[in-house]
Amino acid sequence: PDGSLVDMVFRSVHRYDQATALEFFGRTTSYRELGRQIDHAAEGLRRLGVQKGDRVAIILPNCPQHVVAFYAVLRLGAIVIEHNPLYTARELRHQFEDHNARVVIAWQQVVDTLATFPSDLALDAVISVDITTEMPQSQRLALKLPIKKAREARAKLGTAPTTKSHIAWDRLLSKGSLKRKHPKPAVDDLAVLQYTSGTTGRPKGAMLTHRNLYSNAMQGRAWVPGLTEGGEVFYAVLPMFHAYGLTLCLTFAMSIGARLVLLPTFTTDLVLEAAKKNPPTFLPAVPPIYDQLARTAEHRGIDLSSVRFAISGAMSLPVQTVERWESVTGGLLVEGYGMTETSPVALGNPIGPSRRPGTVGVPFPSTEIRVVDPADPSVDRPQGEEGELLLRGPQVFQGYWNRPDETAETLLADGWLRTGDIVHVSDDGFVTIVDRVKELIVTGGFNVSPSEVEEVLMQHPDVVKVAVVGLPRASGGEDVSAAVVLKPGAVLDTGGLRDFARRTLVSYKVPKRIVQVEELPTSLIGKVLRRKVREDLISAGK
Ligand code: ATP
Ligand code: MG
Repeated sequence: PDGSLVDMVFRSVHRYDQATALEFFGRTTSYRELGRQIDHAAEGLRRLGVQKGDRVAIILPNCPQHVVAFYAVLRLGAIVIEHNPLYTARELRHQFEDHNARVVIAWQQVVDTLATFPSDLALDAVISVDITTEMPQSQRLALKLPIKKAREARAKLGTAPTTKSHIAWDRLLSKGSLKRKHPKPAVDDLAVLQYTSGTTGRPKGAMLTHRNLYSNAMQGRAWVPGLTEGGEVFYAVLPMFHAYGLTLCLTFAMSIGARLVLLPTFTTDLVLEAAKKNPPTFLPAVPPIYDQLARTAEHRGIDLSSVRFAISGAMSLPVQTVERWESVTGGLLVEGYGMTETSPVALGNPIGPSRRPGTVGVPFPSTEIRVVDPADPSVDRPQGEEGELLLRGPQVFQGYWNRPDETAETLLADGWLRTGDIVHVSDDGFVTIVDRVKELIVTGGFNVSPSEVEEVLMQHPDVVKVAVVGLPRASGGEDVSAAVVLKPGAVLDTGGLRDFARRTLVSYKVPKRIVQVEELPTSLIGKVLRRKVREDLISAGK
């Protein structure tokens, strides 16, 4: 990197000047104005006592203030901690107990939730941001406002608000501009504490430096061919409080002078409405979003051919989703792979005819991979055999906040990162994700990959969704078990489903227990939480 994330954004501020940087429900902010607001917000934060190395919490949906807040915190050399604004009081409290930030920039609707914090989590300052006034009335309902929940929580706890000062966002910006010579962060300073999704346990705070995040934006630029500097329209439908949205939408867009269209939540209507005025050219998302968009666009005859780059990650991309998207839009949909710990992208398919659906592609520029024995990561697996993926590159994080043991297990001495994912690499270097090490089911000495069993059950005409997990068996080991969501009207036929599975699976992979459920629990970004499915089935005595 030739600087920090702050240098990166200010290069664009000077270079693209009057061009539009941000758009939110039709209101635009130019690059020059963005730079001005960052300097003002930074001065406001400085006067509240924020210094280099301090941690500042941001709890906002995608909105212009989120972008300004992010860079203002970084400008002071302080560390951003992103949070999901729909988190409950309990979930937020866990995060704050872990990172202890004392200054918070929060969506107004969350301020009540913060007031339920116990007094040992006393906050120095809460800056509240009201984004709803900028949104059309009809769209406000689309945001599932957590207001009522927070009030109830406070009534129950009866704790008095413990925050020293409350300030509205506009007032924060009214104190003038930060002095130019105020020291800027260095490339190896921490920039962001980014919490993992919590799929396999409690979320962990991944420490990412300016170098990590800057490198990943640059690797992204090298990966995507034919980007026009100052000419792309990026859609931020992914939340910027998640690693995927933070890099693929925010820092990537800012690095090439794109127009970033910010959507506070994903609905097909929001995207398709905005697309009529400002057609997107770059749209990173997850498989369920591409599915819904393609179906609705096809149904209503909406043209999405402007999207030149559709990039999927975070969970496996079904080949049917690729086919549907590509036939409706005429563009390519390619899959990549990453994790919070890699800022987040580490592998990607070539964006062009040589991409290979069903795989996550090849290592990003300057990224090395190894495939090892999960029981002993010093032992490499022979070419073509499955094993745990290790990664090394400039985007690999510095460790987990406050968790030296987990850091030592994950980051090996020579810079290799254990991903916890089992992969297979083809002879020409394309990587396929098999499953997570932690989610492999150990049954009588054989390992069963839940994804493989899920894929087979999904082929059954009555099955809409399925999660396969291992349930403890009295005699030790685990039973392969499936939770299925059936088509409306369908009746669970356990024997029939097992016969169906037996046609393509060896007997130890065929689910012993099959349970019908109404819905499957998913993470904020839409991943099925197998850990939660397993807990639910165990506590229901299944
Ligand atoms: P936690 O680490 O807290 O348990 P998490 O691993 O889900 O949660 P993230 O960092 O958001 O948190 O996700 C990274 C993981 O997502 C990867 O380790 C991998 O298992 C999965 N993943 C990412 N991209 C893909 C993909 N294209 N296909 C399949 N799985 C993917
Ligand atoms: Mg993880």
